[in-house]
Amino acid sequence: MRIGSIIDGIERKEENRETLPVRNPYNQEKVADLALADESDLEEAVNNSFETFHSIMKTMPAHERSDILRRAADLLEEQAEDFAETIVQEAGKPITFSRAEIKRSVQVLRFSSELAKHIMGEVIPMDAAVGGENRIGIVKREPLGVVGAITPFNFPLNLSLHKIAPAIAAGNTIVFKPAEKTPITAYKLVHLFQEAGLPKGILNLLIGTGEEVGSPLVAHDKVHKISFTGSLPVGKNIRENAGFKKVTLELGSNSPNIIFDDADIHQTVTALVKGAFAFSGQVCISAQRVYVQKNVYDTFLKEYVKQTNALKIGDPKREETDIGPMINEEESKRAKRWIDDAAEKGANIETGGTRDGTILTPTIMTNVDKNMKIIGEEVFAPIVSVIPFDNEEEVIAFANDSIYGLQAGVFTKDIDRALRLADQLETGGVWINEISTYRQDNHPYGGVKQSGIGKEGVKYAIEDMTEIKFIGIKRNG
Ligand code: NAD
Repeated sequence: MRIGSIIDGIERKEENRETLPVRNPYNQEKVADLALADESDLEEAVNNSFETFHSIMKTMPAHERSDILRRAADLLEEQAEDFAETIVQEAGKPITFSRAEIKRSVQVLRFSSELAKHIMGEVIPMDAAVGGENRIGIVKREPLGVVGAITPFNFPLNLSLHKIAPAIAAGNTIVFKPAEKTPITAYKLVHLFQEAGLPKGILNLLIGTGEEVGSPLVAHDKVHKISFTGSLPVGKNIRENAGFKKVTLELGSNSPNIIFDDADIHQTVTALVKGAFAFSGQVCISAQRVYVQKNVYDTFLKEYVKQTNALKIGDPKREETDIGPMINEEESKRAKRWIDDAAEKGANIETGGTRDGTILTPTIMTNVDKNMKIIGEEVFAPIVSVIPFDNEEEVIAFANDSIYGLQAGVFTKDIDRALRLADQLETGGVWINEISTYRQDNHPYGGVKQSGIGKEGVKYAIEDMTEIKFIGIKRNG
């Protein structure tokens, strides 16, 4: 399979292009060759998206945009298994988790289809200002123009749709630059939109590297907004490079989960096994720091190790696999180095800590401190640390002692305490009696501090992908 960029409906995969292979992270088999885009393709893609915005999208009625999104949802449901298998192949995500990603993605399309018809404005009481009598003020939301969507490897379908579907709902055109590690899902998604009736040029695809096409996309004057999901260093670079355009940044975290002594230990452990190890911890809201009240700490840790040891490791294609590979060997080696570094500084490895190629065994660490990378930085691997605490005040300080703030989980039966923590935790979202790793596609989602800027979740993404326009009318007589 050889794939290339799609600009104005035409694929670009000539033989003379620079090529990059995509490999299955589990067995290293080649899945596809990428015919890479360069800066001249970027220029054409942006210009075409800009023209298509003015010639088609700006005047496309809301009911048509809504219909296209609904048809895309129906098609994705029909093609669900093919998309799930593609994610297994290029990302190494276990099949059951890949299927769950498709289900969520269908919902993103359906929410976007519904909300395309509900982009509301308001009427301003102009006579509230002295001298404003006989005037009418209308506020409406308009599309921005060209949205640059840059996405990571870990949810190649769902996170792409969190940008593309609201952008279409709002009436924008899109230049889509997916992760070069997982571009096949993106390529199939663009074909799916064509099948759903999206006119060519509304969604242009650039298959290329961050340096070659991502960076000039961010800097381009005809792009009105960049919606980025990915790592903190790249996010910082984008913020500096974007000039005056709007920017949404969905970045990383080292999510805290807090377990008080009145929580149901068995159930909480079961949730946190998934929360820390789903897709080998390569999830931005993966449970990384688990704080447990001292009097239940030993019971909790024993149960956590027991349930973690029961996970099935192996081929992500198999139905029973819980833990597959990490995205590549460089990443599994990096994660192993972080474990070893922590162990050298005095941390204990309660279970796991071994590596075989791209597979890192699910690892639980204790006796950790904030100077270790596994606590202070985003681990993005199947590594979780369990840390004891005495009281509410202490654990709030522990949890907030981070440059990140994406989502947190709090487990307690005491509703007053839960609500106090929800107020005190410095994160974009707080779950009570649910893991930090849980996300639905209709709630506002996005971090504070260095976890990002702006919110996704379809309604909120649409708000960020539209501009408010004021229209004033003076009545003469
Ligand atoms: P990454 O930052 O390495 O790459 C993300 C995308 O940015 C890719 O498409 C890449 O090609 C592009 N890119 C790289 N350099 C660029 C540049 N200079 N200019 C423009 N684009 C550039 O991230 P990744 O390894 O694919 O994904 C993992 C990261 O994503 C983790 O840090 C994770 O926390 C984060 N993430 C965040 C969320 C969220 O919603 N907050 C969700 C998923 C993943």
